[in-house]
Parts: sequence; C-alpha cells; structure tokens
Amino acid sequence: MGGGSIRIMNRFSLALGALLAIRLLLFPELPAFADTAPGITLTNPAIRLTFSGERGEWLGFDSIHRNISLLEEHSDQNLWTLVLLNGLTVLPSKAESFTGQMTDGGPLSLEMVWSGFNLEEAPRLRVIVKVSLESSEAEIRWRIRLEETGALALQAVHFPRINSLTPQAGETVAVPEWMGVYSQKARSLLNPEGNPHGRWEWEYPGILSMQFLAWYSDQGLGVMLSTEDAATLRKKFAVYGGEGSALCMEAIHQPPIGQRSASFYEPPYETVISLIDGGWFSAASRYAQWGRQQYWVKESRLKNNWVNSWARDTGAWVWNRGFSQKVLVPALDLQAAAGLPVNVFWHWWHGCAYDAGFPEYLPPREGTEPFQRALANAHSHGVHALVYMNQRLWGMTTRSWAEEGAEKYAVKNVQGAVTPEVYNTFMKVPCASMCMGTPFWRNKYAGLAAEAFNLGVDGIYMDQACSSLSCYDPSHGHPLGGGSYWMEGFRSLESDIRSRCTGDRTITLAGEGCGEAWLPHLDLMLSLQVSLERYAAPGHWNPVPLFQAVYHDCVLLYGNYSSLTVPPYDDLWPPETAPREPLALLDRKFATQFRLEQARSFVWGQQLTLANFTPELLAKREEEMSFFLQLAGLRHQFREFLQEGILLKPLPLETPSAEVPLSRLSIYAGQQDAVKEYKATIPLVLGSAWLSPKQDLAVAMVNISDETQSVSFQMQQTSYPIPFSGKICLVGVKQKKQIGRCREGMADIKLDLGQGEAGLILFQAE
Ligand SMILES: [Zn+2]
Repeated sequence: MGGGSIRIMNRFSLALGALLAIRLLLFPELPAFADTAPGITLTNPAIRLTFSGERGEWLGFDSIHRNISLLEEHSDQNLWTLVLLNGLTVLPSKAESFTGQMTDGGPLSLEMVWSGFNLEEAPRLRVIVKVSLESSEAEIRWRIRLEETGALALQAVHFPRINSLTPQAGETVAVPEWMGVYSQKARSLLNPEGNPHGRWEWEYPGILSMQFLAWYSDQGLGVMLSTEDAATLRKKFAVYGGEGSALCMEAIHQPPIGQRSASFYEPPYETVISLIDGGWFSAASRYAQWGRQQYWVKESRLKNNWVNSWARDTGAWVWNRGFSQKVLVPALDLQAAAGLPVNVFWHWWHGCAYDAGFPEYLPPREGTEPFQRALANAHSHGVHALVYMNQRLWGMTTRSWAEEGAEKYAVKNVQGAVTPEVYNTFMKVPCASMCMGTPFWRNKYAGLAAEAFNLGVDGIYMDQACSSLSCYDPSHGHPLGGGSYWMEGFRSLESDIRSRCTGDRTITLAGEGCGEAWLPHLDLMLSLQVSLERYAAPGHWNPVPLFQAVYHDCVLLYGNYSSLTVPPYDDLWPPETAPREPLALLDRKFATQFRLEQARSFVWGQQLTLANFTPELLAKREEEMSFFLQLAGLRHQFREFLQEGILLKPLPLETPSAEVPLSRLSIYAGQQDAVKEYKATIPLVLGSAWLSPKQDLAVAMVNISDETQSVSFQMQQTSYPIPFSGKICLVGVKQKKQIGRCREGMADIKLDLGQGEAGLILFQAE
C-alpha cells in the first residue's frame, strides 16, 4: 500500500503542528435563541434560519425542539465564496445589490440574489441562492446558481458555509474518510494559538467515501452536511477554524470547465443540512436513506453475486511481501493451521522498487517461470493471490517515463504542471499521477493487469483507487477541474481489464480505502483504519465504521496493518537504510494492540488480515495467533451476519477500558529500527449487532484483555429486532451455551468472556 495512507499522514501532521495549545473549554448550557431575530426568517416546526436583510449573511440557525442556537456570532458570516483559477475570491459582502424574498409566499422557501460585483470578467454576474425547508422535516435544502458568468475562470464554489458552530460539550466531528474517523479535538486542532485558520479538506469521490460530514455533542445532537449527487461529480467537503476558536464546515463544488464557456453554473444536485440526534450512527442512517437508493447499490458487485467465490469465502488474508517463498509458502502453512481458506495480498512481487519504479512491474522479481510455478502450486492448494499494482503512479525517474512520453498523460495542476509525489522515504524519487481521463494510461494499465493475470495471478489490488484528482490539461480532452471524467475513466478501465481477462477464470479487482462510487467496479476494498494507531498522529482521530453502517453488504472489506513483527524492507531499496533484522518480533507488550486491531476487523465485519506472517509465529506468538484464528473461524462460520449482514446501531455497552502501549512504526521498516510508541486508553470489550439477510439478529463480542471480563447490557425490541420471547445463546469456537432469555421484548444480556475470548450471541424465538 502506497500513497494513500501517506497522504493521510501529511494531513494529520499539519494538524499535529496545531495541537500544542489545547484549551480546556467549559460548555455551559447552550444559549437559547431569541424570540425576535432581525432580518429574513425562514422557519418550520423544527428549524429557524435567519439571514441579514442587507447582505444575506447567515445570522441564525436554531433547533426549535431543542431550543438552542447552533450558530454563534462570527466575523465572517458569508454564506458562500467563489474561488477563481487565479486564487482570487468573490464574496457576497462585495455585492452592491442584494434582495431576499420568500418564493412561495409562505415561510418555507427563500430566494436570495446578489449582483453588482464590479468584475471586469463578468460585469453582470448574479449569484442566486435558494433555501428550502420541508413543512416538518429537520432539514434544510440548498441550491446555488451563478448567472452571466462571462469570462469568469471559476475554480470552486464554497456553499453553504456553516460559519461558527456553537461549542458543545463532547463536541465531535465525524468524517467518512474512507471507512470513517471521528475527532473530539477538531476545534483545538484547527485553532492553534495565534493562527486560528486551520483547515481540513477531503475530496469526493475519493478519500471521502460518502458525501457528508457530521458534527455533534456528547448527547449525539448535531448537524450533518451532505450532498445528494447521484452523478458523483467531483467536490470537496471542509472543516475549518476561524476567529475566536470558531469551528466551521462547508461543501465545495468544483465546476467542470468545458471547451466552450457556459454562461452559468449550477451544481446539478441539492446540498442538505440536517439535524441529527444520535451521533455518527444517526448521520449514517440518515445518509443511507438516500445513498442506498442509488445505482451504486443496485450495481454493487457483491450484491449481484459477481464476486468470485474464492474471494467471498476467504477465511483470512496473509499480507506479505517479496518472493513467493515469503508469501505463498507461509500462506499454505497458515491455511493448514487455520483449517480455513487463506488467500494472499501480495506486495513487492514486481520487478521494480516499490513506490519508485512503477509501472515497470513485469517481469516478476523472482523471474517469470518460478513465479508461475509458485502460483500454480498455491492454486493446487486453493490459495489465491491479489497482487499490487498502483492504478495512478508512474515513477518520473524510470526509463519508461521518458521512452513512452508519459508526462503528456499525467495529471496537471491549475498551473498546467505535473505535481511530483514522493512516497519512498529512502530513495526520495518523484512519481507522477497519471490521468484516469486519458485512454493512454487506461490502456497501459489494463495491458499490465492482463499480463499479470495471464501469469496466473487471481486479482489486482489497484492502489490509490478509491481516490481521484482534478486535472487541468486541455490536451486530454476532458473538462478541466471538476466533472465526472475520473470515475468515467475508472469505469472504462475496469470494464477493459475484465474484458481482457477471460477464459476459465475471471479477475478479481480490489482498491484502496473504500468509496460508494467504486461499489459497482471493485470486488474488495482495503480498509486499514482498524489499525489507525500504527500510522496516524496519536489521539487526533479514532476509527469508526461509518462506511459499514451504510454499505457493509455491498462490498467485501478486508485489510489490517496488524502485525506481530516489525515491518519488512524492500530488497530493492538502498541497503544503508535497511533494518538490521527485518521482520523481527515485536515486543509482547503490544499484544493488546494486535488484539484491538483484529477485534475491530471482526466486529466491524471485515475479512481478517494478518500482515507480515511467518510460520514461526504459530509457535513464538501462540496466544496472539490463536486469538487471530479464533476470530477468523467465527467470522467465516457467521458470514451471513459479518459479511452479508447490516450493521445495527451501537450496543449500549459500558465496557471497561485500560491504558495500553501502542506501537507506531509506520508501514515500512528501516527507520533506524526504532519502534515509536505511545500510550492510549482503549476499550477492552468490543461488540456490534448485525442483521442477516434472513432478518436474524446476532451480536459479535470480543474480550481483548488478559483477564476475564463481565459484560452486561440490555437490548430492547424498540431498538433491535430481538424476539418477544426466546432463548439467548453464546456461540464460541469451542462451545455453545444458553446465557439468558428474551422476555416481553427485552433481553438482559449478562456474560463472562474469558481472556481473549470471542463469541456470537444468537437469539432463538419461541
Ligand atoms: Zn487529464
């Protein structure tokens, strides 16, 4: 895995610089809103909005049921910003003329118009905003339209801008950054002392797997900002700071710049702000009502049963690197020990150095014939292989870069230049992102994928899908900047690869991270945030299964950095930065971290993955390996829940927690052998509730501690589909026992889980 996570780290490291002054803010009761607000008011029984009558500034956003103001006074109350290609901005406060009036004569729909911007490029520019409330829904629908845009070179439209959310106790920002993360430090990270202008942005489709952001209090009350764009046009979402420790959110629409300039721009979808009451899961549920109606669910490969059965039946993945001897052979050993189907996720099989020599993958580094023989042997034991091929990088120091004239087809930035990306921290060589909108790159990649398939690999892991970029090269023939050309390109690439890889087998395609736009194209998505502590800045973000909560049954999720050894080192990298002992065993004090990562995969419904497996671990790390095999076995046995099921709302679990050491060694070795570590408080029991396609309920539970843990919680028929009356059983790898009964639509669940014990709680109606 290459760039994706490193790009996350860069963004996190910006935030790291911002951490230093965490203020202890006390949050009294939120201010009640005033009964009489000045300006234009738009209201329904749930929401009241106020805009100034002079400039259309957004002054008030009140939840009527809760009697609270969600916006506080702020120096910047501009509802929108236009950003031009030259970086200059156009603001509503610069308009000479503003009108705002109700469009239906009632209080539910408002049209605001700004004009008179004195712009040479667009002297008659008008910006029109429509804000609508349904008669009873707790949501606001927004539209923006730019007319008479003339020669305005528009890069982005920031709208709506929610400037300065009122601070709340336990304030949390949840972001569908791939699988999903949340932070309770957003306000302090974005407003470091002396520079209150931090900013986080996420692109969609891409690292933002779904089109929303959520902000809420420790009571779960808050706001979701989302778009309803079935065409998956390129856009961004941002969270940013401001004067007085402000915390703000916005959507950013990116117009496609066509060959002939249109005289207007309007995003062809609505942006929605909804009140939520139940934190991240409530945001996900609300989003699912829209998202699950879209074509990407109907056309999802898993739901249509188009995913190869070997991939669906995976018991565990071995994520190893290098020659087949270090990858396929250990997988055969693990398969024998597990008694489950094991497949491999194979890096560094290729002839070139990782993150440097792409796309010169072929021939394989151990030679074509040994590679083919090793794969044939693995197949004879039922072991299948996904091999790494980055779907957008080309090394700028490779021979092929010059010989094939690749630069012409690389992504260009607003200035028309290639932005070199350096991922390899040892060789420090630049790579360029190729443009998915060019047939040249798609043909090149599809050709390589077909060659690898013909050597016997079963699938390709297409690194950096799911991500997308804006390209401004007019010679590529696609609209510049925004638009849908990246996903259209990916769709063509996927169908080309599949049509080239036929015969008695079909190819399996995996991508990095996850994303709703890729559900019709990918069989598997690599979901690594279950082991976020190994690579991210400590304590800023925590993983949360947002993507699972919306789309779990639409794709196979797999992956984990979880490892019992220090990371490996590519033999093709410089020897002077190599570790003295690659794959040395990690200290056992990190065993709880290992169990945490594997338990998250299990309770969040992913296929289990073990990185850097060597057969000696079966003896030298026997406890951790039995824990892993226990989870793999249970997951495989209960795929109807944990693979095909729907994730239900979080359990009302009050679990014990403990402070444990966590290793943070990135994904490559060679960093002077130093395991960076820190401590964090983590839950010791993890659990989740699942609904199978047959509408059966199961609860997955894992104790990751070294001691027996007693767990008790109550489930009610009003929140979970438990039987009105029936038996409650716990099924583990060794035993099945009754642990209680459902009575009158209520299940009192009490159980002891031994050290490292996992199980499924099943309900049997009577
Ligand atoms: Zn391009």
